Amino acid sequence: MIMKRRGIDHHLEGLQALFRRLPESHQLRDTIDKKIGMKTAGIRGESKLVKVFENYTFLDEIYILHDLSFYSTGRAQIDCLVITPNFALILEVKNIAGEMSFLMGTGQISRVLDNGQIDHFESPMIQIDRNSDLLFDLFRLKDIHIPILGAVVLSNSTQKVNVQPNQYPVLFLGEIPSFIKRQIKNQTVIEPNQAKIIAEMLVNEHQPFNPFPICDRWHVDTSCLKKGVFCTKCSEGMMKRSFRTWICEACFQRDPYAHIQAIKEWFMLVGGQITNKECREFLGVQSHQLVSRLLKEMNLIIEGKGNRTTYKMGFRE
Ligand SMILES: [Zn+2]
Repeated sequence: MIMKRRGIDHHLEGLQALFRRLPESHQLRDTIDKKIGMKTAGIRGESKLVKVFENYTFLDEIYILHDLSFYSTGRAQIDCLVITPNFALILEVKNIAGEMSFLMGTGQISRVLDNGQIDHFESPMIQIDRNSDLLFDLFRLKDIHIPILGAVVLSNSTQKVNVQPNQYPVLFLGEIPSFIKRQIKNQTVIEPNQAKIIAEMLVNEHQPFNPFPICDRWHVDTSCLKKGVFCTKCSEGMMKRSFRTWICEACFQRDPYAHIQAIKEWFMLVGGQITNKECREFLGVQSHQLVSRLLKEMNLIIEGKGNRTTYKMGFRE
């Protein structure tokens, strides 16, 4: 039974906004672009795992929690957690192109692309270890005694893996159901009738990761960001306010709500609270009255009065 589904990935959304608004010459552009590529691949991999669980019926009692984030002695972020009356299983999904090698003793994996490019990433073994420790601490605080297992999941069926690590098993997507069934058979029931309670407790403990403001996180000077309202159709042209709507200077798309995305991006990147003046500068409009109306229509958290009015956005999963 799927107890928790994936939420919106705010970090990816924020990185895309940052990439769109970084000047072409900015030194971080390549890094951010790479990070977006990796995050997108990661999410694609996790969606494939979601499908495996959607298409398979387990006869045993089993609860699936996708994209779980909680605090115990630190912050855990788990791609997928499986709870059964016998054990908890952490699945760390990897969707990496090229030939992958586990580098023993370094905590890293390397991958070689067809063009010879070599990149290094943190080993999923280390990620499972960290999440396993944090889950163990949470269980200890809640007086739950259940074994914690882990496995690396390769979401790309043509993935080549060079060194088979001996710490946690490395599985392809198709192997997961039988792996889980085998583990259920091998382990004794530790917490009869408790699996559902544990799964529900974890859903309650879930706290979506808040990566905002992105500029703080990446040490980007907010004054260098491109201002204005991007076209909601061609996403390259800028839009100008004209007769109660926004019109793209490149493709002439009209969208009366185009400012919403721009203001949301301001909160994701710069963060905190926005004043009418800051918003006018960011959107590129002169009218105090217009901006006041646009901000009020957005259901933001309003504080103060008159010239001191500020607006804040709350992000939910
Ligand atoms: Zn356009």
